[in-house]
Amino acid sequence: LVRLRARLARSQSALGQGLLNILASDTLDDDAWEEIEDTLITADVGVTSASQIVEGLRTKVKVLGTRSPDEVRAMLREELLAQIGPDMDRTVHTGPHQGRPGVVMVVGVNGTGKTTTTGKLARVLVGDGKSVVLGAADTFRAAAADQLETWGSRVGAPVVRKDEGADPASVAFDAVSRGVDEGADSVIVDTAGRLHTKTGLMDELGKVKRVVEKKSQVDDVLLVLDATTGQNGLRQARVFAEAVAVSGIVLTKLDGTAKGGIIIQVQRELGVPVKLVGLGEGPDDLAPFDPEEFVDALLE
Ligand code: GDP
Repeated sequence: LVRLRARLARSQSALGQGLLNILASDTLDDDAWEEIEDTLITADVGVTSASQIVEGLRTKVKVLGTRSPDEVRAMLREELLAQIGPDMDRTVHTGPHQGRPGVVMVVGVNGTGKTTTTGKLARVLVGDGKSVVLGAADTFRAAAADQLETWGSRVGAPVVRKDEGADPASVAFDAVSRGVDEGADSVIVDTAGRLHTKTGLMDELGKVKRVVEKKSQVDDVLLVLDATTGQNGLRQARVFAEAVAVSGIVLTKLDGTAKGGIIIQVQRELGVPVKLVGLGEGPDDLAPFDPEEFVDALLE
């Protein structure tokens, strides 16, 4: 988490600094408040949250009649934290239960980082002494299964795959069966991210879920979202959230040029907590999302 903080701070401190500079200016008039709201919107916080944050801050500044930078900073921290939902359940549920492996489905548009996230998550679990089976249910691209196999051998988790074009649900079924047979703790299923029609997606992911439930249960459906894609990524995420009951979000590529404010927006839009963040391409570049750390990093 120290590392998370340092990295987030590096890419996103512009938000905190920019806001604090305006707040510290002599005239905190309508223009200044508008500038603050614009800064938040530019940081991908979203229009609704930005206006709520400014409202809250404005009221507090007025009521308390204070302008000391430390106090204003603390108030801003409070407003941001309230928008992030500090009490949401951010645990990634990975089982096992009643002698059966927990199953995590990883969904999202191609290129967002699904396979990488699957590999990194397996790495975390294996590091915790758990046994993990990976399912390469993205059968539309042979390269996806190859990539997952590379991750599997890197982190020490067997990969169940089939030929290109095979039924994704049958791969998921086989992966969970293998997990049950081997007494594995968790099975992580990497799904296809073709954005075809919503009903097509719904059918496909629904079928994967149903077959998993013949053998065990789906504990978490993690939607992977590339933080650098902003509004466009959010639109695509919405399609997935409508197609399958998403229980958590993984926001990837926060190490790049992404604006951290997207976390606030995506949670508000989808009503689902960000559980993990991707901070790079390497096996250890996955971190639990901690709202307090995150807000502190924003304001550093
Ligand atoms: P998929 O098509 O959704 O399975 O996406 P991939 O897992 O193949 O990832 C697409 C690209 O994004 C790859 O080059 C990954 O190395 C890269 N990537 C994934 N997660 C992150 C991250 O958190 N940070 C950075 N910088 N790159 C990432």
